[in-house]
Amino acid sequence: MPERIDTDSRKLLGRLRDALAEDSAGQARLNRIVHLIATSLQTEVCSIYLFRDPETLELCATEGLQPEAVHQTRMRLGEGLVGQTARRKKVINTANAPAAKGFRYMPETGEERYSSFCGVPIQRLGNALGVLVVQSKAAREFTPDEVYALEVVAMVLAEMTELGAFLGEGAALSARHKQPVLFRGGVGQEGAVEGRVYLHEPRVVVTNPISDDPVAELARLREAVEKLRGSVDDLLTQTSTVSAEQVQVFEAYRMFANSRSWMRRMEEDVQSGLSAEAAVEKEQSLARTRMSQAEDAYLRERLHDLDDLSNRLLRILTGQGKDTGAALPENPVLIARNIGPGELLEYGKQLRGIVLEEGSVGSHAAIVARAWAIPLVINASGITTEALNGDQILVDGEQGIVHLRPDDNVTSAFRDKIAMLAKAQERYTSIRDLPAQALCGSVVQLNMNAGLMADLPSLAGSGAEGVGLFRTELQFLVRNQMPRRSELSALYARVMNAAGGKRVAFRTLDIGSDKVLPYMKPNDEPNPAMGWRAIRVGLDKPGILRMQLQALIRAANGRPLTVMFPFIAQYDEFRAAKAEMFKALEREEILGHPLPARYEVGAMLETPSLAFAPDAFFDEVDFVSVGGNDLKQFFFAADRENERVRRRYDTLNISFLGFLEQIVARCAAAGKPLSFCGEDAGRPIEALCFAAIGFRSLSMRPASVGPVKHLLRRVNLDEVKAVIDTARNSGEQSVRGAVMDWLARQT
Ligand code: PEP
Ligand code: MG
Repeated sequence: MPERIDTDSRKLLGRLRDALAEDSAGQARLNRIVHLIATSLQTEVCSIYLFRDPETLELCATEGLQPEAVHQTRMRLGEGLVGQTARRKKVINTANAPAAKGFRYMPETGEERYSSFCGVPIQRLGNALGVLVVQSKAAREFTPDEVYALEVVAMVLAEMTELGAFLGEGAALSARHKQPVLFRGGVGQEGAVEGRVYLHEPRVVVTNPISDDPVAELARLREAVEKLRGSVDDLLTQTSTVSAEQVQVFEAYRMFANSRSWMRRMEEDVQSGLSAEAAVEKEQSLARTRMSQAEDAYLRERLHDLDDLSNRLLRILTGQGKDTGAALPENPVLIARNIGPGELLEYGKQLRGIVLEEGSVGSHAAIVARAWAIPLVINASGITTEALNGDQILVDGEQGIVHLRPDDNVTSAFRDKIAMLAKAQERYTSIRDLPAQALCGSVVQLNMNAGLMADLPSLAGSGAEGVGLFRTELQFLVRNQMPRRSELSALYARVMNAAGGKRVAFRTLDIGSDKVLPYMKPNDEPNPAMGWRAIRVGLDKPGILRMQLQALIRAANGRPLTVMFPFIAQYDEFRAAKAEMFKALEREEILGHPLPARYEVGAMLETPSLAFAPDAFFDEVDFVSVGGNDLKQFFFAADRENERVRRRYDTLNISFLGFLEQIVARCAAAGKPLSFCGEDAGRPIEALCFAAIGFRSLSMRPASVGPVKHLLRRVNLDEVKAVIDTARNSGEQSVRGAVMDWLARQT
């Protein structure tokens, strides 16, 4: 073991612990700490700078500089050696500070007299909180042992800052996680709500950064690492149920979990007086910093693995599981880095809002949020590290803005906004039972998309005429095991009952892509969106498709039935799927079950290829429903879940509109009903243009029916069509601008 064990760092930590245990106010504590460090390291100056706001550091305590400079001296991030230490998140140690690049002279502190400078970032998990600085008159570099001692102390300071130990009167002393923060993200689902934060994966809270007994602490650390190694080995033994990619990740976990150098560094830290948790976090912080600076994607991934592994170890040490038992607050707003549709469904409709650090508009989790009409903001960078369980939060899904811990002014302005939106909702309610008839006389049928029993009450409330898309896979995603036929049939019967005779288009299972069933072996596919999904699975392994069709026929129990098959790319797939429907009908008849009075079998057009299918397809199909989410991603070759590329291509791009017109023409020629059921149908401007080019049926999330109907009733679709034609003839790539301008001119 290194000879550091009984060196200054351990003694220093012991004193620090005593200082922190004293019941003093934030400022007094800080003063005591800088004094302690200066005496222990026998250096003239020790100062602590903390962030006042994300761009400004403030001198919060000093031993050796002019006391009047405290709370007066400030610097921007990157300014002077202190600012640079914070920006780079790296130690700056120099014997000749005035000669160092970036040195800034601060007369108010009297600092020109000091030659050596050592700045150590105070950071927690990659987030800079401040800088700890020591300076001395003598021109000397601080020794590695001294720097190490400062790093250990900075680690403790970071933990204590997080815990609010330095909360005092001054604004700069307010701990992180106490101040208001605004996040600008992207709109996932409109609407505005006020609520309280609920973290999907809460951070582990370390309350004891300094240990009393390094020997016992070392034993705790070793025991936890043993457990961790065991759990990683367990992960690897389940390889039959995980993909090759996951195995690779677990292998990397194993490599880190058995890494000697990782263990050695943590052991050293514990022997220097840190608690086991603080030692793990110190390593994790380093990894995070390197992760943010690594250019190499592979290295970043590996550092990410190490980060994950550290979290696992912290959970073992603290006993704080993924589920910390924190109760869901009133009006919960879920905060997550990202979330799959299955996990989201587990929360149910009780959520008031959702904010994702990553996420994308085209994901199925976003679709679920939209179906529930829960405001969703995506790409709110930094929110998972800033938000704490129970924090007040305002989610503005209209603008993609989130106010965390807002001040009173913001809250009251926001409440006005909520009231205004509620007023608009009232306006939609007043036209709920009227048809979506445009001024030219054309009527557009507005249906809603659904997937859960809980969606059905919206059928009456929204003014939708039926369910244009019932995503049956959502029922499979909310369960831990494959539902039985009898369960499915009972559920579908309940859906039909709740629809009260209105048409429900049941789409057979569309799994694969981002919809992974927890109880099915995942497929290791390089590109699941274009892989073995939807009807491809249904036809290759027809067991589930047959069970579903049987369940639907039994649920109809003599009532009319509408079924549509997802992701039909060519005619023979439709024929084969329809043959399964016939077989199921025959079988049910033999078994003595009543057959549906009428049935329609439709196809979802989600790949461009189907638009060019032989006429025989259009003659045979009972109806076509355009799955615009998938169709658009394949038309533009732009992943619907990748925000970066998704936004490049406007749905109202004339290329896409022209393509949709061809589909309208083919269905019209064959006399087949056509509908559009992707998310774009629920966006008023898009819906307007679809109606103008000939769509007479649109299916959307329930909350969109009102706004779309409101707009359609105000316009003449022939005029809109003329605007679209003029725009495309003028060389515009998208007709959006022209349509918006025209709308603005209407009264
Ligand atoms: C679509 O692709 O537009 C569609 C409605 O299906 P899903 O979003 O479920 O893939
Ligand atoms: Mg689709």
